[in-house]
Order: sequence, then C-alpha cells, then structure tokens
Amino acid sequence: MNTNWLVETHGDPLGVIQTLIKAAWERFELDTLMVSMNGRTKPHLINDPEQLYKVNPFKPLMTKNTAKYLPQVLGDIPNRRVGVLLRPCEMRALVELTKREALPMDRVLTICVDCLGTYPREDYQWRAERKGSSERLAWESLHFARQGGIAAYRFRSACQTCRTPIGQGGDVNIGVIGLPVRQKILVDARDYETAKTLGREEITSEEDQSLIDQRDYIIAKLLQRSTHTRQRLADNLESILPRDLDALLHLFERCGECRECFDNCPLCAADYPARDELGMYAREEVKQWMISCAGCGMCEQACPNHLPLVTIFTQIRQQLIDSIEPASQIH
Ligand code: SF4
Ligand code: SF4
Ligand code: SF4
Repeated sequence: MNTNWLVETHGDPLGVIQTLIKAAWERFELDTLMVSMNGRTKPHLINDPEQLYKVNPFKPLMTKNTAKYLPQVLGDIPNRRVGVLLRPCEMRALVELTKREALPMDRVLTICVDCLGTYPREDYQWRAERKGSSERLAWESLHFARQGGIAAYRFRSACQTCRTPIGQGGDVNIGVIGLPVRQKILVDARDYETAKTLGREEITSEEDQSLIDQRDYIIAKLLQRSTHTRQRLADNLESILPRDLDALLHLFERCGECRECFDNCPLCAADYPARDELGMYAREEVKQWMISCAGCGMCEQACPNHLPLVTIFTQIRQQLIDSIEPASQIH
C-alpha cells in the first residue's frame, strides 16, 4: 500500500512544509523539535510550535550534523517526545548511531527533507549578502528544485558527491527534488499508520503519477552526476590521497594531537578510536568508522589542513565495503 502522497502548495512550498511539521508536532504530541537548518552553529530546540515559521530546511548551510547531538538531547530531557528535522546525510548518520547505541527512538519522530545542497561556510555569508538575505538564497535553491537544484560547483564537496540528497528513512520524509514545488511537494511516511495520522490522500490522478515518474528521472540524473563528480575528484587527487586504510592510519598518526575530524564527526566524537602509545589508532575501530561514514563532510569542513577528507573517506569506505562478502554487503 502506498504511503506517499502529493500535497498542494499554492505557491508557498516552505509555508506548506512548516504547516506539515506543525501537524506532525500536534498529531505525534511532540514536546520539542530539534533543528539545525537556520544557520546557527549548533542544532537548537524549538519548544513552541508557533515558532515553526522560522524553520527553513533549504538554507544552503550545514555547520554541524544534527545526529551527533541527538543522544545528548534525549539524555537531557528524559520522557519527552522529540521531533528532529534532518538532512539525508544526517539521517544516515542517525541510522548508524542507532546501530551502535540503544537510543530511545520510540519517543523520537524523524523528519527527513530532500536536500538542495550546501555551500562552504566561508561562501555562504557573502552569497547571502549578495542575494540580500539568507532567505532569498534558500529560495533560489528551492526555485530550481524541479530541475534537481542548482548544479553548484561551489557546493561543499560532500554535497557535490552526495550519496543521495533524497529525504528517506525518516518517519516522515518530504520531497521537493524533481517536483514543481510551487504546485506540489511529496510526503512519504514510514508506514500506513503514520501516513493516516498525517492525513494521507491516495495518489489516484495520472498527473500526480507522472510527476512522481518525473521526480524519479531527475533523481537518477542527480545520482549519476554525483557519481561522476566523485570519480573525477578521486582521479584528480589519486597521486596524493591515502589509498587504503593503512595509509589513512599513517595520515592520522602524522596529524599528531589534532582530532578535529573526529570531534566533528557524528559517529566518533563521543567515542574516539583507541590509540596506542606510538600514536597509531586502532585499525579495526577506524575501519568500522569508515564503513559507517554518512558522507556529511563535517570532518572535511573542520580540518585545519584542508585535506579532502570526503574524497579520501569515500574511496576507503567503498574499498572496505567491496572487500566484505556479498551476502553481508552494506549499502
Ligand atoms: S551531503 Fe548530501 S544530504 Fe548532506 S548537506 Fe550535502 S547534499 Fe545535503
Ligand atoms: S567521517 Fe566525515 S563524512 Fe563521514 S560521517 Fe563523519 S564527519 Fe561525516
Ligand atoms: S582534521 Fe585534518 S589534520 Fe586534524 S586529524 Fe583530521 S585529517 Fe588530521
């Protein structure tokens, strides 16, 4: 049974998304919503649904991976129902975190939104100023959602090579890519019960079905583009990149006491790989870290040596996955 449906936006996709989040808040009786999309340096909690008009998932800036903060928030406010708004790479990180630790996900509602890409921090500010405001910059991304967003070569390398920018895996997923967002957006629920709670309507019209087919086509093109970019970046850097896990361990060894990439990663900030007296990190732990990498690029953004960590980690992750028996492959 279908759990997705198209919602009319009447020219205001952002307003409709904010209304949808508000409906989810009320129907799932949330106490707070964790968001990181307003350009703040850390995710913050919205405790009043009337403040949801401030939420804009399309601001092209990502300063931290929200998933990194969720375990602490859940610990700080026990017994509260928490909604969390996530980009796809944050959702991927959260999935990996739940494999490592028992989080009380029964009191979490995850809302994952298609991502239209993000600029490096240093670019974002002047682009927003040039556009007149950060809202206008966000609207520019949304304006081109139907074509798959703007093909911004200035986006962070994580975004240019994103595994998928499609909102998926959340309890509620919101789709804009490939759709005429001034008319309709897509809502996709985890299951039929969630869809029913949110007022799902059956997709019956041929027009709606053809919009979904068009979206699928644009998504396939986007993924093709990011695969090519990933390959191109890897080829360009081939002679200087660590080529395998052992070379990466030596790189970390040479980094000395710097642990910025560890600190900023949602998957190892709270639990560094162990290190021996010579400064070498535990191979198996770094291997597990690489395999679980969500591709968000927060490590690269933090690296004081400006190393292309997304390209390095992506290559090594793929190598490690390829070396696992086909029956247990990770996707
Ligand atoms: S890596 Fe992908 S999901 Fe994450 S911010 Fe970039 S485009 Fe969005
Ligand atoms: S290693 Fe880097 S890209 Fe991978 S999840 Fe951690 S911060 Fe994100
Ligand atoms: S952030 Fe850069 S310099 Fe620091 S440990 Fe990581 S790779 Fe090395």
